[in-house]
Amino acid sequence: MNTVKASAIGFKKIRLCANDLSVLDLSKLSIKNGQNYINIKECFKVEDSLVLDLSDNINIKYPCDIIYENISEKVNYIPLYISDEFNERFYTDLPLGCRYSLEETSFSLWSPIAASVNLLVYKSGDNKEDPRRFLMEEKNGLWTMKLKEDLKGYFYTYEVTVHGQTNEAVDPYAYASGINGLRGAIIDLNDTNPEGFHLDISPTLKNFTDAVIYETSIRDISICENSGISLKGKFLGLAEENTKSNKGLSTGLNHIKELGVTHIQLMPMFDISFNSIDEKDPVKYNWGYDPQNYNVPEGSYSTNPYNPVNRIYELKKLIQTLHRNNLCVNMDVVYNHLFHQIDNNFEKIFPGYYLRFNEDGSFSNGSGCSNDTASENPMMRRFIIDSIMYWATEYHMDGFRFDLMGLHDTYTMNLVRDNLDKLERNIMLYGEGWDLSTALPKEKRAAQLNNHKMPRIGHFNDTLRDGVKGSVFFSDAKGFVNGKDGLEELIRKSIVGSIKYRDKYEGIFQTPEQSINYVSCHDNNTLWDKLELTEGKSDIELLKAMDKLANAIVLTCQGIPFIHSGEEFCRTKNGIENSYISPDSINQIDWYRKENFMDVFEYYKGLIKLRNNHPAFRMNSKELIDEHIHFLDCPNNTVAFMIKGNANSDSWKNILVIYNANKDSSSIQLPDGDWNVVVDKYTAGTDTLRTVTNIHQAYGISISVLYQI
Ligand code: CA
Repeated sequence: MNTVKASAIGFKKIRLCANDLSVLDLSKLSIKNGQNYINIKECFKVEDSLVLDLSDNINIKYPCDIIYENISEKVNYIPLYISDEFNERFYTDLPLGCRYSLEETSFSLWSPIAASVNLLVYKSGDNKEDPRRFLMEEKNGLWTMKLKEDLKGYFYTYEVTVHGQTNEAVDPYAYASGINGLRGAIIDLNDTNPEGFHLDISPTLKNFTDAVIYETSIRDISICENSGISLKGKFLGLAEENTKSNKGLSTGLNHIKELGVTHIQLMPMFDISFNSIDEKDPVKYNWGYDPQNYNVPEGSYSTNPYNPVNRIYELKKLIQTLHRNNLCVNMDVVYNHLFHQIDNNFEKIFPGYYLRFNEDGSFSNGSGCSNDTASENPMMRRFIIDSIMYWATEYHMDGFRFDLMGLHDTYTMNLVRDNLDKLERNIMLYGEGWDLSTALPKEKRAAQLNNHKMPRIGHFNDTLRDGVKGSVFFSDAKGFVNGKDGLEELIRKSIVGSIKYRDKYEGIFQTPEQSINYVSCHDNNTLWDKLELTEGKSDIELLKAMDKLANAIVLTCQGIPFIHSGEEFCRTKNGIENSYISPDSINQIDWYRKENFMDVFEYYKGLIKLRNNHPAFRMNSKELIDEHIHFLDCPNNTVAFMIKGNANSDSWKNILVIYNANKDSSSIQLPDGDWNVVVDKYTAGTDTLRTVTNIHQAYGISISVLYQI
């Protein structure tokens, strides 16, 4: 026997694997737990491993070694941490984190394997100084401390000793921090509320399908020299009203309002790792999918990241301003991985628990960022739910977009849904349901393939995305709008919200509110760049036509439309496919470009107005879609459908939509009666442009929308 692998699968059970168990002489085997030896009571063979029943519990505060002859092998505790036995003994729903009041501040931290925990109290957020040190008390894995003094303005960390190693960690539950998120901050949350914040109310959202989501970044939206915004790259920059470019065109919030979307989705604005963005000198650009402190806003977006109250106040001020302007706010959350697999607060506090591991003990890495969190472990699950509920209640967030949602488990996502529903505010919940290679069984993954197990949770619809303008994985791949044949059926399936439609289509999703329809987002080429890759750069009018048709499809399909900021005036990143660390010159929303593509902006605006004013495009059930949507026969590369019978209480009796992806115009035989054209290749909106009967000429590469009263 030359190699032995041992795992604790219970407090009194160790599983032993060796390359030849038959030669194992049990009398030579001993188990050392810290300074103590544990006797083996019984031993039996299970498949190709040995299970050892122990006479005493393993004390997890100390490592355990299997000693055989001259070999000593550490017992892997991770299988024990994920066992029901562990959970029953240590799971807690008691309060965690720091709770401040004038009279006292209490602290609690969960780490059943820590041998000791000290609370360290500092005067500053990052200066070298000797902290005050208080030994915390433990009960069942929960470490607590109460200090009867007014600690407002102080900072804190925990000094955690685990298996002989002492780490200093920031409280994962900290809701405020000092510069670069290096220490938690003790504040009174009441001091962070802008005037009237307790009266702040989100715009009402009746159905999720009524939303039009606009993804932007705090930095990109205002950083351009021509944004007309004073606080560039800051939370408050997006809160500036009535800003204009040097040619007098609306920018920032003013622009978004004009466009008419309902929800702004903010790219990561929780505390981003200081490795990615130095809050002291935020010159380096980073999208921010590098979480450090989940419950703290990012400091580089505040006007004073040294003052812990400031960033919270300014983000709240932004949310309040957006709400006043009838815009909801969705938050991009990244609970699926941490910036670093070892150097992060969770691992410092309880190594092996919060992250997911492969059977061989290596880090699961479906995220491609060196680690995946383990949402299936009850205290990690609790953390995600607590964090989401904190943002929803304390900041009045209106929705959450889960990055790499497919890495989480369906049970957790459903609990997030249930908890948000308790707030009775119709808070959106959707994410990237990609099926990634992670150490979680396929059937448990919160991926698109399991969408039937997660009602009312949306997924980015990659089928529509790639069908409309070509796969994101192949730069020269084309889609419906840029000339690939044979995609009519895919487009028809998208029109019905990618759900089961009558007996005709099987569908991907169960309900239209599960389909987030889009053609581009921060990842991959912008829509404009993708079209340039497939069509060349020379024919601007052709590119514009394709661009407009692509998002016209997004905005007239059933489901939830999603637009990436700047698309509405042909955003380019100069062909840079992954701009996560590209400079502002690449990532910024270029307000000069708006001047050049005003016609495209007006067109998007018209389509959004059409959608917002006509509930027929926003049906929220399979029954309504089955009843009201009818397809028409039409030429190749053309798709036409009617939404009949005042669908979803629409004021228009019948609506006819035609997508013509041919470069030439197409003659469409109209159903009986007069038809009013409201959208053609050049103009979009709700006003009648002309009335036609019998035959409609649909321009090459265009959408037409016609209606009858
Ligand atoms: Ca940060």
